[in-house]
Amino acid sequence: MDRPRHLVIRGGTVVPMDEPRRWFRGDVVIRDGLIDSVVEGGVPDGVGGAVLDAGGAAVVPGFVQCHVHVVQSLLRHQADGLSLLDWLNLRTLPYEAALDADGVETAAELGIAELLSGGTTTVLDFGTTHDHDRVFGAAERLGIRMISGRTHMDIGEQAPPSLLEDAAASLADAEAIGARWHGAAGGRLGYAVAPRFALSCSRQLLGGCVSLARRRGWLLHSHASENVDEVAAVREATGMGNIEYLHSVGLTGADVVLAHGVHLEPAEVELLAATGTRICHCPGANLKLGSGIADLPLLLSRGVAVGLGADGPPCNNRLSAIAEMSLAATIHGLRSGPAAVDAWQALALATVDGARALHLEHRVGTLTPGKAADIAVVDLGGWSTIPGDDPAARIVHGAGAGDIRHVLVDGRPVVVDSRLLTIDAETLRRRVDEAWRATRSRMAER
Ligand SMILES: [Zn+2]
Repeated sequence: MDRPRHLVIRGGTVVPMDEPRRWFRGDVVIRDGLIDSVVEGGVPDGVGGAVLDAGGAAVVPGFVQCHVHVVQSLLRHQADGLSLLDWLNLRTLPYEAALDADGVETAAELGIAELLSGGTTTVLDFGTTHDHDRVFGAAERLGIRMISGRTHMDIGEQAPPSLLEDAAASLADAEAIGARWHGAAGGRLGYAVAPRFALSCSRQLLGGCVSLARRRGWLLHSHASENVDEVAAVREATGMGNIEYLHSVGLTGADVVLAHGVHLEPAEVELLAATGTRICHCPGANLKLGSGIADLPLLLSRGVAVGLGADGPPCNNRLSAIAEMSLAATIHGLRSGPAAVDAWQALALATVDGARALHLEHRVGTLTPGKAADIAVVDLGGWSTIPGDDPAARIVHGAGAGDIRHVLVDGRPVVVDSRLLTIDAETLRRRVDEAWRATRSRMAER
């Protein structure tokens, strides 16, 4: 379905996320890719334009995930039962080294297909060291809003040699890729400079990433303080706490998004708040790798800008925004009591707050006239979503990725009646099967 010039999403429970806890029955009118109006009670019958039915469903801003790795999708269900550093060194880095260009593209298509089908319309994505143009090509075709970058790494005894690059050469490659894709597809694609984490980058490389991003006005995206062994290794190597070390090389600030932030010293929380550094909370991945539970209530109370993310398919193993919201609204009860994070806060993390974390709040994150029509329509007819009024509770605690009915990005319907329109599902399944078998046999040969 091409983008209709005029489209009405009709008869849903509209949850604009522009004010806390506001919802009403109404229609969303879209013109030329932008939200034209949000009409309480609905527009009169007979108003022209294409119609998408939202009866019995919630109409919400498309979900924003601030940390995913679509390129890791072909390793899903093959790296279970490991803690972070073994997960990385024994499975994930060998997998990334074994991927060829077609594998990169197929993995990206699989990840993006899952994201869009689950209502996620915007992601900050983390690549591997090679063939990153293929990730952007997949994002351009499938229709997601994506900020992404190839990763950088130049140290690590256990890393496959092919992933360890010359710092200057990898930075030059990133700049060339970013020059090709930043602002492409009508501004739907963007570049972020993505050093993998403190332990896989020399100080010189981290500094080079910071310089490149600031010179070009691109975001910085990395991982920090996910696991106790990682934090201990950073201290042994640098004599500093992880965030403290990143701050010393310039890798803090409002243009920096750090995934995890599970193990933070009190002074580091204050450093994140003072510098405006963004944290992406990844509860599903943190639980699955046994890493721990980030203190989200503390981060929010200190004013740290936080978004939500599923992280990678091998460490979650799903890329569902609703699953992450459900965890975010549940697990903090263990430390802070069952009212610590409610369903509305979780829904905000995956919409308006996520958009703010990525500096996209002028464009997405709320259903506001003038913003891009990035919208998810969530069916509220499933057994676990009834009865009740509160749409946030029904989505966050009751729904799942399979309840997504329609999805639009820039006003283009990419999912209609739960069917992804931008790629043929059977063709993708066949390509995924071929690509993961080929990748797995290359991993076995090494
Ligand atoms: Zn990650």
